[in-house]
Amino acid sequence: MTTAPPPYIVRPNTAVLTRGFDPRLSVGSARPAVFRSSTYVFSSPETAERAFDIALGRAVPEPGESVDLIYSRLSHPNAEILEDQITPLENGAEAAAVFNSGMAAISTIFLTFCRPGARFVYTTPLYGGTQHLIHQMLEPLGMIGVPVAAGNTRAMAEAIANSPDCKLVFVESPANPTLVMSDIAAAVRTAHALAEPPLVCVDNTFMGPVFQHPLTLGADLTVYSATKYLGGFSDMLGGVVLAKNRTLIDTLRGTRAILGNILQPDECWLLDSRLPTVSQRMYRQSKNAQRIAEGLAGHPKIGRLLYPSLIRDPEQRRIRDAQCAYPGGILAFELAGGKAAAYNFLRALHITKNAVSLGGVESLSCHPASTTHSEMSPDELARYGVSDALVRISVGIEDWRDLLAEYLAALEQA
Ligand SMILES: *Cc1c(COP(=O)(O)O)cnc(C)c1O
Repeated sequence: MTTAPPPYIVRPNTAVLTRGFDPRLSVGSARPAVFRSSTYVFSSPETAERAFDIALGRAVPEPGESVDLIYSRLSHPNAEILEDQITPLENGAEAAAVFNSGMAAISTIFLTFCRPGARFVYTTPLYGGTQHLIHQMLEPLGMIGVPVAAGNTRAMAEAIANSPDCKLVFVESPANPTLVMSDIAAAVRTAHALAEPPLVCVDNTFMGPVFQHPLTLGADLTVYSATKYLGGFSDMLGGVVLAKNRTLIDTLRGTRAILGNILQPDECWLLDSRLPTVSQRMYRQSKNAQRIAEGLAGHPKIGRLLYPSLIRDPEQRRIRDAQCAYPGGILAFELAGGKAAAYNFLRALHITKNAVSLGGVESLSCHPASTTHSEMSPDELARYGVSDALVRISVGIEDWRDLLAEYLAALEQA
């Protein structure tokens, strides 16, 4: 489905609107059609045989060869269009694979590149679903997870270097919900120096493809919950994996065909229409969050305020300056009055809805300890700094002055 790229350098915001979709293949339609078909008619028995040879890895396509589609669990036109259009958004990416949720993408990565008896290193705290995947599924299957505290560059290097048969390093940065950042380039340096280098995968959901570029820092894979900033309107689930090495993406597509977790045509079409505005939305959300964080800093009813532009720790500042272009749209803070104050604060909000998830144009707030992170033990919650007093806010694109006014008023009732 790829059209030839224009003969001059095209930046991501242009490429996303010009690459990957050929109107001639959709009867001239300026926007892609939705191809809901579950199966595809072959041009001949020979092209059917050729398509299966390629799909099953018995042959590789010639450059420019057009291979017949087979069946939508393997791939379909809307997945191909989306994958081609999202690739230039991610600096350093050569290929993408789309999944029907962020968790589908993350599970497929682990099930493809790790195996029973092998190890993987991961940063903590981690998105609740990923944590659940590790403890409820991967460890019972015999994979050995080695946790390291987010932001501890030395501990991460030691864990990677000292884990025999390590297949994967999984970094979530900034961490959810504490926004602690981990040094991606340092993880890559240690991993890639090993005799049998593990793949380094970064969950880049919080910084999006706009503010942090794991592949240019040397990571092998970037994964997104497209449900968040990429989708941007809290009305769909999706997941995306990007890589600079096409073979890794082809391997993931092989697992995807087995598990049947490809993103469906309508959802691909929807996500496709959201890509051109990702950077506008994310810049607005980050600017809003920064002004709000600055407006809340030092408030007597707020204890710790967690936001990347306001951190003081020199090591965290170093990591931030090395890998984050903007601080992003998520902020978190502890209420001086503890859990009761946190609940009172949430109850007093009107513009900002009390819901999990993040990255939508509308602001959302939640109490991580009792919801998204409630599966963690009291010891883990304490260790990772997810206290009962902590509230997380995903800042939307509303006028930041209205949001700040609402938070200042809600603090009065906390
Ligand atoms: C939401 C989220 C996920 C999971 O994505 P789903 O689309 O909900 O499956 C993974 N990682 C992070 C950081 C997330 O915020």
